[in-house]
Amino acid sequence: MLPFAYTDELIETVEAWDGTIGAPSPRNRKTDRIRVFKNRFVEDVLATSHPILPGVWFGPFIAFGLYTAVTSEAWSIGAGLGLYALGILGWTLLEYSLHRWAFHFHVDPDDFDAKMRLFMLHGYHHEFPNDKWRLVAPPLLSWPLAVIVFGAYWLMGGTETAFILFGGTTAGYLAYDWAHYYTHHFRPKNPVGKLIRRSHMVHHYKLFQLNMGISSPLWDWILGTWGWTEDAVKEALAADKAAAKERADHAAGKPVGKEAPENAAK
Ligand SMILES: [Zn+2]
Ligand SMILES: [Zn+2]
Repeated sequence: MLPFAYTDELIETVEAWDGTIGAPSPRNRKTDRIRVFKNRFVEDVLATSHPILPGVWFGPFIAFGLYTAVTSEAWSIGAGLGLYALGILGWTLLEYSLHRWAFHFHVDPDDFDAKMRLFMLHGYHHEFPNDKWRLVAPPLLSWPLAVIVFGAYWLMGGTETAFILFGGTTAGYLAYDWAHYYTHHFRPKNPVGKLIRRSHMVHHYKLFQLNMGISSPLWDWILGTWGWTEDAVKEALAADKAAAKERADHAAGKPVGKEAPENAAK
């Protein structure tokens, strides 16, 4: 068996998918998740991740970057901390750019390979937004990206500066990963949490090309992709709630969607 062979379940899901990144299609609303890879090591270790794990992998870089920022001989403490903050800001722009320009496009529904690529990048998350095990990026995605980012910083400024910038960027990345998990699994009461969660629900269920920042709306505000109306927020929250009910009903063996008595044709 090839290590990266896909499951039949994934192939069927992608075949049935229309190639559009948006709200979950009816057939995918019955469950939180599907299995992607046949190989157990690839599926359980490389392609999924418990939400705590990015903190374990990247925590040491976050701490070491900060330590380097305040102890560096090449940079004053102020300049070191400024670089660290620049690293955080760099992450927010990367988060926005990847999501807006690399993850959100439409592919021809008849082109299976193109659909599969897009599904693996971002389609899965929009079709199964509540999959606890695929909400923070797994090593298969985050580690190669980390190597590229560190390499770019190293080329720009050498080892010490790279560690400071990279510490900031990984801090921003971790904040994003956890903020994203929070938006899908918690109901915040504080105003900042509410803003982040609601804008992301609008992205998932209403205005798919807007609210591309997840950890903050900064770049949406600057680049004109901020989408927020009271109606959009209300409808998006209702859609998220309805999807959760469908999954719970399905898990409890009750009829779902069109089969449910309240939705049956009169
Ligand atoms: Zn998206
Ligand atoms: Zn999401």
